[in-house]
Amino acid sequence: MKYIKILWIVLFAGCSSPQDRSESFFLEIDPGQSVQNFGAEGGYKAVTVMTNCAVETSASREWCTPVITPGYATDNLRITVAENVSTEERTATVSVTGAEVKQIVNLTVHQAGITPAVSVNRTAVSLPDGVSDFTLDVTANVPVVFDKPAWITEKAGNHWERGAKTYAFTAELLPEGTLLREGDMTVRTVETFAGVSPVPVHVTQTGVHRTRVIAHRGYWNKPGAAQNSLASLQNAIELGAYGSELDVWITTDNVIVLNHDATYQGVSMENSSYSAIAPLHLSNGELLPVLQQCIDMVKQQTQPNKTKLIIEIKTHSNNTNNKRCVDAVVQMVNASGAADLVDYIAFSQYVCGELIKSNPQHRVAYLNGDLTPAALKTAGYWGLDYPMATLRNNTAWTNLAKAAGLTTNVWTVNSAADMQYFINMGVDFITTDDPQALKNLLE
Ligand code: MG
Repeated sequence: MKYIKILWIVLFAGCSSPQDRSESFFLEIDPGQSVQNFGAEGGYKAVTVMTNCAVETSASREWCTPVITPGYATDNLRITVAENVSTEERTATVSVTGAEVKQIVNLTVHQAGITPAVSVNRTAVSLPDGVSDFTLDVTANVPVVFDKPAWITEKAGNHWERGAKTYAFTAELLPEGTLLREGDMTVRTVETFAGVSPVPVHVTQTGVHRTRVIAHRGYWNKPGAAQNSLASLQNAIELGAYGSELDVWITTDNVIVLNHDATYQGVSMENSSYSAIAPLHLSNGELLPVLQQCIDMVKQQTQPNKTKLIIEIKTHSNNTNNKRCVDAVVQMVNASGAADLVDYIAFSQYVCGELIKSNPQHRVAYLNGDLTPAALKTAGYWGLDYPMATLRNNTAWTNLAKAAGLTTNVWTVNSAADMQYFINMGVDFITTDDPQALKNLLE
């Protein structure tokens, strides 16, 4: 049918004016041009409308804009098509109306839908110590969402936008003592499309080892405090210590009291009822505290890294009392909902064994220094908490303990030189009477 267009051009070239053809109006297009196909990106195409009429044009869809040039010309109908952002193909009809011939010529305009595609600038994210924010550059022509571990959250403004966009995320900082955390994210389309796979992004967080501060019998080396006092516990909390160590005994009537020695002012802890102990005052004027008060105090903390109680269950005169003490302390801690805020220590293997037996998840460290890391691991301990001399004389034990997954703690470290020695050794905790000095050294 191309001959019609050629004929029209020949006729047009041979005529002096449109009036010469006024007796026979015509309006035609080459049928080969009656269907126009566009890609999803849109654009324009020209069509030749052969006519000697006054013509108008319109389109059935707003994304398709036809413009016709009056008069005779080739490529006189321009059809502009907007970008199609849908995956669906679409169709419009362009109509050309010739007034004199009372005739409409229709063209069909087809446009393809987009081919869904998602790309991400990286498939691995590495977050060094202390860094929590990261971004992903995502290019997507269909909506995407992010699947991620609970410790990763999206920042405000992360709503999907077509094309290239930088999306922002925050990872929670590593929990204290954790040196490595890994998780998998995926960037995936909201709808499922054949041939479009979710993009995996592996996130790795690394921490650095830090030695942490345990205040020995609380942070008592301060005006107004005393060893194993509520004031010393409060001081340790205010300092931000990892833990505040305290010593406990059980009375004959099952009250858990704080005291380092077996007696205080001549009164035996384990052989007295609480009524004999209740009136006793510490050097700072406090009454001798009971464990429940300490648990209540650590539970009241609101900061993210709460100071823990490092409860030393003292070695009583017999295992009946040791067992009563273990059971009463564990029961009190659990009933108070404070299990996460308590680590246990003891010199007695019997006491430690009972703590581990009552719950293998209990964090129990052994104080007496006479078990190897391997023996501690076998017995289910959480860690070792050994005197300075033991760790100095067994320099391999700290690393052996670490390799076995045990924590390492050293007591009682009070000089700057000793503190630095054990920091350099890489122990997890230093128990000290001068927690402020240790904190200063660590900062
Ligand atoms: Mg102690």
